[in-house]
Amino acid sequence: MSELKEGVKGLNVEAIRKMFPVLHQEVNGKPLAYFDNAATTQKPESVIKALDEYYRGYNANIHRGIHTLAEKATKAFEVTRESIRAFLNAESREEIIFTKGTTESINLVAATYGRQEVKKGDEIIVSELEHHSNIVPWQLLAKEKEATIKVIPVSEAGELDIDAYKELLSDKTKLVAVNHASNSLGTINPIEEIIREAHKVGAKVLIDGAQASAHLPIDVQALDADFYAISAHKFYGPTGTGALYGKRELLESMPPYQGGGEMIKDVSFDGTTYNDIPYKFEAGTPNIGDVIAFNEAIKFVNENGKDAMAAYESELLAYGTKKLEAIGGLRIVGTAKNKVSVISFVIDGIHPFDIGQMLDARGIAVRTGHHCTQPLMDRFGIEGTVRASFAVYNTKEEIDRMVDGIDRIVKFMSK
Ligand code: PLP
Repeated sequence: MSELKEGVKGLNVEAIRKMFPVLHQEVNGKPLAYFDNAATTQKPESVIKALDEYYRGYNANIHRGIHTLAEKATKAFEVTRESIRAFLNAESREEIIFTKGTTESINLVAATYGRQEVKKGDEIIVSELEHHSNIVPWQLLAKEKEATIKVIPVSEAGELDIDAYKELLSDKTKLVAVNHASNSLGTINPIEEIIREAHKVGAKVLIDGAQASAHLPIDVQALDADFYAISAHKFYGPTGTGALYGKRELLESMPPYQGGGEMIKDVSFDGTTYNDIPYKFEAGTPNIGDVIAFNEAIKFVNENGKDAMAAYESELLAYGTKKLEAIGGLRIVGTAKNKVSVISFVIDGIHPFDIGQMLDARGIAVRTGHHCTQPLMDRFGIEGTVRASFAVYNTKEEIDRMVDGIDRIVKFMSK
């Protein structure tokens, strides 16, 4: 463990592992090795404690109360908004809207900005690398508006074809929606260039940051992103909460998403006026406890340093890639130059599901299937992959166990 203590750039992985209670258990009689982090990360004690403290100590509805508990809850809730603002480097806290997560953030933009701005004959560009949540909301919108979806193709390595993208852009393009990093292949997309090119034709850009938030620096102002969507649970926070960043002038020009309490200024049967941003987009009682706990996840990332965490995860990625590549019959799907710590692979003659089950019997949690990216699987002519995705608490020793397990599975299946 001494190597873990030293870690990369002072990262103490051994100490970090201690912060995550769920990691310290046996699954099927073996120590758990959790490699399903792209689906959801585990939560540190501080996140769990914050949720517990809220419900035990100051559960109250926010914004509308003047009593002590309501004020305490409101303050803690708004602290998280400020932390997200800083995390994304947004200009102001009003540009941060709480949502259930990336999926809801994208649906919000499609249902408001999209409905208002996209007209018959307009075009929306997505990529072949997208998660279903960055495809289907646009398909629904396109159907309603008689608009067209255009798709940026992906190379054999799993990289976006940027020349093809530039060809797709035109004055018909209203929106470009792409991910910062791919959940299936790990590809990091050149979003700065994507945004710059889209802006040249007057299109707005939504970045799906679900997989970037844990691994990549994010600066929405430097990127000049119009919208940026994140989910707390992808970077050590609770499920059921996340955020949408939107440029102030866009958010102010957009109609509300849902109607209800909080999003209004005045309601009468003669007409209703809406609240200012961000509250205009936050109808109803939000997921208060989880938003408050979300702040602890941001603190966890900030305290460890995203750069140091990413450097360590890159080391795990390189180590795992090298080891897996050496297994006969195993093919890595997604070999982009720039990747977050995700390895997707297939093995000749063995169904991904069987590999997943046999690894689970050894206490090793990987994900198998299409990873909500069916068009991408179609592109590669496969049904699905096995995906191992690493977080800051994973170790090379755990990777060795996975590689050894796969080696044995391959030998057993080829008998
Ligand atoms: N986009 C990407 C790239 C993802 O990986 C995911 C989740 O796996 C999502 C969007 C949807 O995120 P959520 O389910 O948290 O809304």
